[in-house]
Amino acid sequence: MTGRPLLNRRLEGLGTTIFAEMSALAVRTGAINLGQGFPDTDGPESVREAAVRALRDGRGNQYPPGPGVPELRTAIVDHQRRFYGLDFDPDTEVLVTAGATEAVAAAMLALLEPGDEVIAFEPFYDSYAACIAMAGATRVPLTLRAPDFRPDMERLRTLITPRTRLLLLNSPHNPTGMVLTREEATAIARLAVEHDLLVVTDEVYEHLVFEGEHIPLVSLPGMRERTVSISSAGKTFSFTGWKIGWVTASAPLVAAVRTAKQFLTYVSGGPFQYAVAEALRLPDTYFADFRADMRAKRDLLAGGLERAGFTVFRPAGTYFVTTDIRPLGENDGVAFCRALPERAGVVAVPNAVFYDDPEAGRTQVRFTFCKRTEVLTDAVDRLRKAFAG
Ligand code: PMP
Ligand code: GLN
Repeated sequence: MTGRPLLNRRLEGLGTTIFAEMSALAVRTGAINLGQGFPDTDGPESVREAAVRALRDGRGNQYPPGPGVPELRTAIVDHQRRFYGLDFDPDTEVLVTAGATEAVAAAMLALLEPGDEVIAFEPFYDSYAACIAMAGATRVPLTLRAPDFRPDMERLRTLITPRTRLLLLNSPHNPTGMVLTREEATAIARLAVEHDLLVVTDEVYEHLVFEGEHIPLVSLPGMRERTVSISSAGKTFSFTGWKIGWVTASAPLVAAVRTAKQFLTYVSGGPFQYAVAEALRLPDTYFADFRADMRAKRDLLAGGLERAGFTVFRPAGTYFVTTDIRPLGENDGVAFCRALPERAGVVAVPNAVFYDDPEAGRTQVRFTFCKRTEVLTDAVDRLRKAFAG
């Protein structure tokens, strides 16, 4: 036992996820938690009832089929057709996972060999670094820089090497709120085709686009056979605890991802799968109202943070707003977030933890607005009192 660290070297330095750390801090201090992104109101009652009904009727209480229950796979296919005009075969081109988190993990474990390089937008969503590391591959950051956080296509071209295996892309992007434009998505697709790269897209915020539109990369020329699209029910339907996610891709890609997935969880969330099938069939008005509600909350929080003295980078998508704390006379986001519950009774997340380069996101701090209006109002009030007198 001596001499050798217990933790596998690949996971060294990854520590505890910042979301758990910051939520624990909120619980300990009683501060308003605008750190970890989870709503403080559950999703539609009809969807919650659908889960109860499934549970009571004995649907999904035993192991569901490995790829997911047929009702959900069909609902996923219909959702992709309804919103994007995309066609998938529910039997061979869909895989239900334990949230988008497992889908990302399974995709990395399935598609990567040690030594492969993965290009991803930096700041990275925290599980990407861990999953790429667990697969023995290397992450290569394409850094998004304030104030616009736009990806630099010339830079992307220079990052591609013979070792590049895949692009792991997230739009709408957590934590910056950047949403790829059609021109950017098209340029990325061209590079992927030119260099014969796989593309894994994390689209969990697909229904939270306030400016522009969500463009699934798989819809672009040459992308159908090389793209693994990932999404999940957590954000779209405000049931983050259910952990129902999914992959849509060509049959060979789904088969590869399924091979890894079946040895991670095999299956999960039986009764919830039936409920999410119903959620995906909610009318267009549900999705439009959800987006409008979140947009109003974005404006409330962004305006409040501006008045409190933060520099605010208003997000085009997601339910996060990234700020810069330098106008407050601060220059260390991690220290700032640790002290924030004491100073203002609010919890936020330091973006620095999503960067490899410790300088790049040092002064950026992320707040979520997926909370009730009165909670956001209270939070911005506290921040204004703490920082703007
Ligand atoms: N990707 C991104 C970008 C996220 O913000 C999150 C958090 N919801 C996830 C993946 C994980 O999603 P899930 O809870 O469905 O595992
Ligand atoms: N996606 C959520 C966020 O960015 C956190 C999910 C988690 O805790 N893993 O806040």
